[in-house]
Amino acid sequence: MEVIETIKELRQTLKSSQQRINFVPTMGNLHQGHLDLVNYAKSLEGQTVVSIFVNPLQFDQKNDLDAYPRTIEEDKQKLIECGCDVLFLPGVDEVYPGGTAERLSQTIVSVAKLSSRWEGESRPGHFDGMATIVVKLFQMVQPDVAIFGQKDYQQLQIIRQFVKDLCMPIEIVQQPITRERDGLAMSSRNSRLNSYFREIAPILYQQLQIITEGLDWPIYNQRRQQAEQFLTEKGFNVEYLALADQQSLEPVIGRVENTVLLAAVKLGGVRLIDNIVL
Ligand code: AMP
Repeated sequence: MEVIETIKELRQTLKSSQQRINFVPTMGNLHQGHLDLVNYAKSLEGQTVVSIFVNPLQFDQKNDLDAYPRTIEEDKQKLIECGCDVLFLPGVDEVYPGGTAERLSQTIVSVAKLSSRWEGESRPGHFDGMATIVVKLFQMVQPDVAIFGQKDYQQLQIIRQFVKDLCMPIEIVQQPITRERDGLAMSSRNSRLNSYFREIAPILYQQLQIITEGLDWPIYNQRRQQAEQFLTEKGFNVEYLALADQQSLEPVIGRVENTVLLAAVKLGGVRLIDNIVL
């Protein structure tokens, strides 16, 4: 696996190989969910490029950015074992030349409407930071295919939208959520749960399954309320638990077809998200 830190070297390497590029952007601290995306990329024709970059622009809280786990040596090892061809590992100065994003970078990609709800409400600026870095990484890597997890459902819809709006010749692929044996969606944040909260965390996915099992509209509200009450009793602080349209992400009334059940909770001080596509 080639490890590349500069945009110049990345462009030279990718150009000279003349193969299709299958790209998996990440922030590192890789778990099986990330590696499943890499394995999918490996199953396609061409070369697999993974990026690891903890993007300061998408963190609204500096302590959250500082606390983000960085495990680069372990990550490299896992990627080598997966057969990744190129790891792009740029520093902050390479991505935002000259220093901090706020002072020297003026261009922000904002997919306003899709970014306004759900995660956007509790994390101001997060999606603008995310969209901006993904556009920048697409410019650097120029992939044919880019692979993302359904875990971050809203993020994926925002990416699909700007790819369409900006006429980018990139195929966006969605891969299913990778879960722990007990159903908890894998996330870098799970390791912040203490043993008590880690044990009860799978209740979130269990409740999403109970709501969506054989769901039709007339029973939705009652099931949703029961689930929220149960989660609250167990110590979850439910931020949102709602049916939304799969594309527009607007709340849905009167149907369950073409919807996604979205959830965000706080548990023991750790924010968890999950979803089920209906
Ligand atoms: P991150 O490093 O958190 O920015 O995530 C990088 C990519 O991995 C994104 O496309 C995420 O949606 C995806 N991802 C994270 N967790 C999971 C998971 N449990 N299952 C599938 N994909 C995931």
